[in-house]
Amino acid sequence: MSLLRMHQRRSGGDAAAGAPQQRLISALRQQGISDERVLAAIAKVPRHAFVDDALKNRAYENNALPIGHAQTISQPWVVAMMTQVLLAGRKPQRVLEVGTGSGYQTAVLAELVPTVFTVERIRPLSETARRRLATLGYRNIHCGYADGMNGWLPYAPYDGILVTAGADTIPSALIQQLGPSGRLVIPVGSHGAQSLRVIDRRGAGTREQDLGRVSFVPLLAGKV
Ligand code: SAH
Repeated sequence: MSLLRMHQRRSGGDAAAGAPQQRLISALRQQGISDERVLAAIAKVPRHAFVDDALKNRAYENNALPIGHAQTISQPWVVAMMTQVLLAGRKPQRVLEVGTGSGYQTAVLAELVPTVFTVERIRPLSETARRRLATLGYRNIHCGYADGMNGWLPYAPYDGILVTAGADTIPSALIQQLGPSGRLVIPVGSHGAQSLRVIDRRGAGTREQDLGRVSFVPLLAGKV
């Protein structure tokens, strides 16, 4: 888990966040999130804006929550950990997210990366997230309604690709669309029990690390 421990610094203030958000940030610190840039982004993004009204009082719990269409907004710890891994030791300029869902992970990335591209295969989720992110004032996000198993070719290559659904195998298009020294973060394995893989492009080849067990909804082919 060496990547998780990079960027260790002293605890900051998190002064801008409300009480439930501050509790969440403390929980994330205890669970190994040490990159202050990531913690500041989580403290800044209003997670309650990414869930239905009935769930707003639970928005700052460290849990996944339903967003309709049998999908979930990822657990804050998972969002923070994947973002920390993507950024560890590098400064990606252009990042692709596969699986927009609610748009929450997208917003966290957009706080940290100059330009974020995100694709979603379920049209209503894609459209809701696009509207929501625009309303929140994000101008550095490009939302697409597409099957991210094919990556997103028009804007490739990417310095980083983050997949927020579990793949049976690593789609070759995602490796192909990684730029020089690009990094892919992807859960690989069967439904609800994947291992989180980090694939770094190294010249003509790649280097792969396994960061341990995670649980995601499945990466599925085709648009709906
Ligand atoms: N990042 C999201 C997580 C949503 S769950 C959030 O923070 O809310 C994963 C999402 O991946 C779901 O919305 C699902 O529809 C989407 N997904 C699954 N397979 C996909 C594919 N091949 N292309 C694009 N999106 C996909």
